[in-house]
Amino acid sequence: MDQHENTPRRIRQLKLPSGRKIEVAYFGTADPDLCELHHCGTCGSDLVHPIDWQPTSKSYWQVTLRCPNCEWCGTGVFSQRTVDRFDAELDRGTDSLLRDLEKLASANMTEDVARFISALDLDLISPDDFRR
Ligand SMILES: [Zn+2]
Repeated sequence: MDQHENTPRRIRQLKLPSGRKIEVAYFGTADPDLCELHHCGTCGSDLVHPIDWQPTSKSYWQVTLRCPNCEWCGTGVFSQRTVDRFDAELDRGTDSLLRDLEKLASANMTEDVARFISALDLDLISPDDFRR
């Protein structure tokens, strides 16, 4: 028997509703690098993010994950390849959030300027409004 078949491909720690923690070890021939850490296996959200990580060996990381949608939390050991893909997905998520933030800030500024212009046109703002 191939020695690698006795070695878990992935270990995931789960916290049960009772508070008890269990470890689930994944064996078999499925490619562990196909798991997507940003995807929540409980609720299907793609917003899972790391809350802690540390190397366990030269090419494996122990990562604690949290789903903000259903509050699932777990820890597992993952290959460098899987963690690299997760890191790239987190970068894409950060870029998406920054683009949304820029759009929101721009929309808010546009509304503020429009209100200010409207107030000036209606003589609702005078120099006294700017004195201390
Ligand atoms: Zn979830």
